[in-house]
Amino acid sequence: MPQTPPKFVILDRDGVINLDSDQFIKTPDEWIPIPGSLEAIAALNEAGYRVVVASNQSGIGRGLFEMSALNAMHEKMYKALARLGGRVEAIFFCPHTAADDCDCRKPKPGLIQQAAQRFGIELRGVPIVGDSLRDLQAGVAFGCTPHLVRTGKGEATLAKGGLPPGTLVHDDLRAFSRWLLEGEGARHGAAASHAGTAASPSATSPVDSTNSR
Ligand SMILES: [Mg+2]
Ligand SMILES: [Zn+2]
Repeated sequence: MPQTPPKFVILDRDGVINLDSDQFIKTPDEWIPIPGSLEAIAALNEAGYRVVVASNQSGIGRGLFEMSALNAMHEKMYKALARLGGRVEAIFFCPHTAADDCDCRKPKPGLIQQAAQRFGIELRGVPIVGDSLRDLQAGVAFGCTPHLVRTGKGEATLAKGGLPPGTLVHDDLRAFSRWLLEGEGARHGAAASHAGTAASPSATSPVDSTNSR
């Protein structure tokens, strides 16, 4: 029986899976899932997708929180996911600040490379989902397909423009998951709108900002 290569999705964390904050997410209590995001991961798993997370966590480098706090946040995420039958394979994070000039702080490619090496991911065509330009840039360098969500910093990112060519825009992770699982990629922009050109309001519903925070 021929082996089909495993399907992967790479996600940013803050603003994609959980609510983001300009004050950083520093404790498990501050780690609050965006409605539907964990269910979306479980649905991806159910359809055979393995999910990995790649996340800049410069709050560590800034001394805002410790590794133990980060681990506790991720423990909370794993447990909440497990209750829904979902899982992420691993969370790759960069603890550095911009001043450290490391290779892993997105848009640098280090985190994506680490994930690819650990799981043997053939990155070309793998969806990468983020709410910031640098999330997408880190993956596009390897041929990942860029997906912007409007949650977190997504609206601001969209307004700023300059997204990689072919970036698709989704209301949130749940909308991305539905789009992927319904195979609407072939229909190219039926459920998601292309960035760059004015995002067609008829194709997407605006995010209720009270809902995305
Ligand atoms: Mg983010
Ligand atoms: Zn780094």
